[in-house]
Amino acid sequence: MTTYLEVAVNVPQVSGTFHYHLPSDWEEPITPGCLVTIPFGKQTVQGVVLEISEDSAVPQTKPILDLLDPDPVVTQSQIELARYLSEISLTPLAACISLMLPPGLSQTADTLYQLTEAGEKTADHEPQKADQPSAANHQSSLTPAQLRFLAILAERGPLRGRQIERALPRRNWKATAGALKRLGLVAGEPILQDPKVRPKTVRTAQLACSPAEAEAQIENIGRAGTLALERRQKIIRFLIREGGPVEVAWVYAESGGNLSDLKRLEKLGLLFLAESETIRDPLDELDFVAAEPPTLTGEQAQVWTQVQQALRDTHAGKPVRPMLLYGVTGSGKTEIYLRAVAETLQQGRQAVVLVPEIALTPQTVRRFVARFPDQVGLVHSRLSAGERYDTWRRARAGLISLVVGPRSALFTPFEKLGLIVIDESHDQSYYQTESAPSYNARDLAAVYARQVGAVCLAGSATPDVTTTFRAARGEWQALSLPDRILAHKEAVRLQLERLNASDVSKNLEGSTGSRFHPLEADAETIELPPVQIIDMRSELQAGNRSIFSRALQSELSYVLAHGQQAILFLNRRGAATYVFCRDCGHVLKCPRCDIPLTYHLQSRKRANALICHRCGYTRNLPAKCPDCGSSRIKQFGTGTESVETEVQALFPQTRTLRWDWETTRQKGAHDAILAQFSSHQADVLIGTQMLAKGLDLPLVTLVGAVLADVGLQLPDYRAAERTFQVLTQVAGRAGRSPLGGQVIFQTFQPDHYVIQAASQHDYRGFYKQELEYRRRLGYPPFARLVRLEFRGRDEPQVEQAAQNLSRQIQGWIAQSNQHTTEIIGPVPCFFARVSGNYRWQIVLRGPDPATLLRGQNLGEVRVELDPPSLL
Ligand code: ADP
Ligand code: ZN
Ligand code: ZN
Repeated sequence: MTTYLEVAVNVPQVSGTFHYHLPSDWEEPITPGCLVTIPFGKQTVQGVVLEISEDSAVPQTKPILDLLDPDPVVTQSQIELARYLSEISLTPLAACISLMLPPGLSQTADTLYQLTEAGEKTADHEPQKADQPSAANHQSSLTPAQLRFLAILAERGPLRGRQIERALPRRNWKATAGALKRLGLVAGEPILQDPKVRPKTVRTAQLACSPAEAEAQIENIGRAGTLALERRQKIIRFLIREGGPVEVAWVYAESGGNLSDLKRLEKLGLLFLAESETIRDPLDELDFVAAEPPTLTGEQAQVWTQVQQALRDTHAGKPVRPMLLYGVTGSGKTEIYLRAVAETLQQGRQAVVLVPEIALTPQTVRRFVARFPDQVGLVHSRLSAGERYDTWRRARAGLISLVVGPRSALFTPFEKLGLIVIDESHDQSYYQTESAPSYNARDLAAVYARQVGAVCLAGSATPDVTTTFRAARGEWQALSLPDRILAHKEAVRLQLERLNASDVSKNLEGSTGSRFHPLEADAETIELPPVQIIDMRSELQAGNRSIFSRALQSELSYVLAHGQQAILFLNRRGAATYVFCRDCGHVLKCPRCDIPLTYHLQSRKRANALICHRCGYTRNLPAKCPDCGSSRIKQFGTGTESVETEVQALFPQTRTLRWDWETTRQKGAHDAILAQFSSHQADVLIGTQMLAKGLDLPLVTLVGAVLADVGLQLPDYRAAERTFQVLTQVAGRAGRSPLGGQVIFQTFQPDHYVIQAASQHDYRGFYKQELEYRRRLGYPPFARLVRLEFRGRDEPQVEQAAQNLSRQIQGWIAQSNQHTTEIIGPVPCFFARVSGNYRWQIVLRGPDPATLLRGQNLGEVRVELDPPSLL
């Protein structure tokens, strides 16, 4: 009897599944979810077994070649989830299955090239022997590219296509390889890539001599006056301070140095590099993490009863609705998640906690690690493929029961999943739109939870409008924590004592009355910080040309004088500074992306740089306008650097820190910046959107939004929602401790409902108004959208493709009589070019526009259902 297998083949762009059989002498047990290698056309590729049967659906099948892992690599539930995702996202099943595979395993096929015997002789520069005339002939008739190709193979031995790609970038090496194959000089053989597994260790640097000896050498480790000397000195001083082995990423972040600096210092005998098993955690010193659960407040207890009931119901096999926990910033949501995880683990089930990005949410992550020290696996972008694979394997083997990570952690292969938590569930990072299938991890989590009988618990202080709408209709269960918890009493006392004993009383018993909440009052909750709206138009009228209003200046000076901390927020990535000519209005744009360049006082490469934030293009700020020749071309608006410069001009003693796109390009930089700020080595943190993600910093008593209305004008129906979310979240960073706090929004549109609602921490008010607006204009949740995006180097072609599909869709609408579906576009996207590619889009709007597209051949187009943004 033959056993037949239905296999999802792991080759991009291949849709459908394929049928194989087990060789007759096959003995190993094989189940759905197993990873096998199979012949596919002329290649050998990987695939995942979906089903096993005794009769074949197709007449001719080939045998499978090998089983790669004795245990299944995806669970039965994951296969089901992939089928669902494939259906709703209009994406081939194989692409959805490969989401579930750990990165080291999801290999695709490649070719291994090596020299044939004749090729070896040709590549050899030794004189040709008389009995090999053909080789000698080749040597003379080969093109330089072909000779180069042979030389590389001769030097490095057999190479994979991907390695050759790297050795000969941007060259048409495939044609060269083909020609050499036909000449019999090179052989190519289809292979699978080796799993990219790196050792689990990290590289560390450590002083190789005593600190005194290192100090003595500190002027001799580079040429005087060079940047290299400065970097190396920073490295040595940092290592002296640290006293032990330090992960090199951390050294780079602290010193701006690089590997060659470290190598140089190693040569000089000042330090040694080693591999270490342990990763030094920069947050170790922060002691705001209590491993013991606190007693719940009354409000928390009410919420907890419902979550606990849902966990018990699902454990008993009863289905429950997904839960939306709306809770203001600092209301104790995380404490609820922690309890829910504890209960789940007690039930013998497993839990997944999704966070926006580990590097941006270290405090949240640490609370989970502290509460469940031996049971948690972390997934984050700093892990190598091997480390990820490790976590994945430990989860599959049942060695860990909790995984914390970004959206991909949803695909952890747990057998008895009991809980999925989505922290900051409104966050954009839960949407995956860069490659197919596009999906929203929050909504997918709800579906997955229902399917496997788990609880889905999504929390946010600013839930997205659609989810709140669903909760209002009862599709999700609504939970709420309306009050902020007063925290950190002890931590604040200790911090302030360390600072300056005499300041403590000033700080804690401030005579301003309402400003500070006295420590003694053992209140459970604390008011959210008051928000002042400052109209920047009247500042200008009053002759204040500074980017800081008078109010913000005076609050800053108060905070700095009292040893507290402030956060200044700019609603932009990096230093978002448009440059334009004051005479003719010309705006400098990226030649590749067609969006305005942003101005940087200092970049890694140069001073006065203009940088494109989509593709990285960099140039100098020109002295004259390229259009009219005026010299009055300069930056407009404000970036993080200019805010920093201004703070330092006003308050020269202030220690500032920038947290933005520029300062966090190096690995480990997020941790370094946060650790520095939370241990009070800086007074003012100036940053962008990154600030909005769940930071809990007791000494922060002032938050200023330098320009609160930035972002409102973007041409997207979700611009208002996103601006409200970020302002509310950022405002929520102030006033967490007994020190209290306050917030200032500077704006040119003080009456805008988003600014008004955010200033009152009024989520409900915002929601009502926004929902009305969506209803009027027919946007989600009152309609569904599908976004179809076309990209390419040739704009007329891109437009043509969009026009063609648009016409086809019109036909399908007429055929199926689905006239409630409307076609918006085709139009160029707001970000009209990305990395040299033009972008056009079509948006479909209607009750269920995706049904039109199902089963149709859409060609080369990116499909996004319920797209997060129309920009
Ligand atoms: P959120 O996740 O809503 O921002 P957190 O769970 O982080 O809120 O709680 C805010 C602060 O209050 C944290 O410092 C936390 O340790 C503290 N906290 C939460 N619940 C309690 C409680 N029941 N008793 C005392 N402190 C609490
Ligand atoms: Zn000009
Ligand atoms: Zn660009």
